[in-house]
Amino acid sequence: MTFASIGLIKGLLEAVVQQGFERPYPVQREVIPAVLQGRDLLVIARTGSGKTASFVLPLLQLVQCQEPRRRQALKALIVVPTRELAAQIGEVMRQLGCYLTPKVKTGAVFGGVAINPQMIELNGIELLVATPGRLLELVAKNSVQLSEVAVLVLDEADKLLGEGFQDELAQILALLPRKRQNLLFSATFGEDVRQLATSLLSEPLQIEIKEAAHGADLITQQIYMVEPSRKGPLLRYLIKTGDWQQVLVFISSQKRADLVVKKLLDNGISAATFHSGMSQGGRTAALAAFKTGAVRVLVATDLAARGIDIKFLPHVVNFELPRSPNDYIHRIGRTGRAETAGVAVSLLCPEDMPHFRVIEKRLGKRLARIDTSGLDLAGY
Ligand code: AMP
Repeated sequence: MTFASIGLIKGLLEAVVQQGFERPYPVQREVIPAVLQGRDLLVIARTGSGKTASFVLPLLQLVQCQEPRRRQALKALIVVPTRELAAQIGEVMRQLGCYLTPKVKTGAVFGGVAINPQMIELNGIELLVATPGRLLELVAKNSVQLSEVAVLVLDEADKLLGEGFQDELAQILALLPRKRQNLLFSATFGEDVRQLATSLLSEPLQIEIKEAAHGADLITQQIYMVEPSRKGPLLRYLIKTGDWQQVLVFISSQKRADLVVKKLLDNGISAATFHSGMSQGGRTAALAAFKTGAVRVLVATDLAARGIDIKFLPHVVNFELPRSPNDYIHRIGRTGRAETAGVAVSLLCPEDMPHFRVIEKRLGKRLARIDTSGLDLAGY
């Protein structure tokens, strides 16, 4: 089966080729035609299955194929639980929509950053991904209207409910037209998701994808743009607000490793260094404490990091970029192992970008940048 045989239009077929997608993943084979037919869907699929493209591609097509005079209103809305996911999906929409003419106007809005640029970005928006709180703020400021939304996607619905977004969701649903298409994506199918599905969906097609697609990326890469002096506070902010319990931080020098650990300890986050300036005994003890969870953050130089083998490491942070793209791939490969999804975060300054673009070339994809200039890091 090919992307052409499931009914995608030419501009989207060009984009999937450019992304290096040879054929549709199972979730895409099932979801894309069903969305194009206007059905409601309940999809149980995890990150790594290819689920993002499974809804982004048909949504772009539905918007693109409307009569021109009916365009220029928000037609499709994707609601997600985290700003990282919003930024990531925003980037996928940009990449997959880049060969359409005329272009579909897409955008991503999320909290924690300045609202004014987002208000401007929303002008003429047709396809939007948003976190619930920021979306409601923008509605209250009259920057966006939800009255013409024809398709609603709730992505990672289990997380949306688990993080207590019920009230915001109810408010958003009340602003949408009654008659619309609804797509519910969730990694798990617990009682709360079941209830939401019952209240939201009409005669849904139920699709369950058990495995991540073969060769798919289990590692989510997040790129935070940050001033050098704010890297330490941002790291502590991410660890605290994300409640990260096991984090491997890569850093360029032993001295800086000691400094970062000291600041983490000062902020009540248990941490240890791991570098070749330490005795073997010291290193073994630090690694053992990290593995058992007694130490939450291990700050390591590349040289030492080669010896670290941890099966289910959920978070890796590049405090600085490594010199070679191979080292970058080696570092992020510490997470996302053994079929469990992981997150690899890089904290980058503008000076890092030429080098980072070389890494992206090697990865064969461009990653979304998350702007942190408006983020209030006081107290971290
Ligand atoms: P997702 O589950 O949406 O996070 O996607 C996981 C990864 O699979 C992403 O890096 C996508 O770029 C990639 N991907 C999605 N669909 C395909 C495909 N049909 N062929 C190859 N890679 C894909």
